Amino acid sequence: MFLQRISEHVARARFFIFDFLFPTECLHCGRSSVRFCESCLAKFIHTPEEIHPGVFALFSYPDPSIRKSLRLLKYGRSREIAHIYGKLVFEALFEWYADDAPFRGNKSGEKILIVPIPLSKSRMRSRGFNQSEEIARAITHAPENTLFTCDPHALSKTKDTPSQVSIKNRTKRIKNLVGAYYANAERVRARHIIVIDDITTTGATFAEARRALKKAGAKKVICIAVAH
Ligand SMILES: [Zn+2]
Repeated sequence: MFLQRISEHVARARFFIFDFLFPTECLHCGRSSVRFCESCLAKFIHTPEEIHPGVFALFSYPDPSIRKSLRLLKYGRSREIAHIYGKLVFEALFEWYADDAPFRGNKSGEKILIVPIPLSKSRMRSRGFNQSEEIARAITHAPENTLFTCDPHALSKTKDTPSQVSIKNRTKRIKNLVGAYYANAERVRARHIIVIDDITTTGATFAEARRALKKAGAKKVICIAVAH
């Protein structure tokens, strides 16, 4: 845990220096004064791909522009990046919604809950920034949004667990997270829910979050990561 915090401080420091030395420019083409310019964004719009049952991802993490931007979001606390991805996820969801595929049966007219993967209370206190929450909020801030509402309190992380990044094996990752999340039944019962995270690898975090939400009575849960 201590080493993890140190490495996070180093990563944050690197981004401060990065920002200082290199003025804002498009992470993909380097030609524009915004983090992603319109013509590059157009190339990046993707249809969600199902990478585990009920778990979808939009972008490929090994792509250098995607990796760089997600590191800038997390360690550089870039709300600009959160807004860019929020908009892209919203557009993908909106198109998807028109086809109705993952939301079939939501006839109640209730908004779909957008729920970010939370940090534990102590982790949130020390970091003060949860990139998944920033993306989740940005999705619902899209001007055309009438379908989704963000609820960062639907799910909470009730125990501090070692970073998933340090654990390579999927079974161990799942074990590491057992009982780590708690869902508020009053907020999630009978609701359609989309869980949001920045990156997914084995899908263990999503699996445990979904388990907690279903246990609390959620009707339908799908998970979307920006990248995998
Ligand atoms: Zn560009």
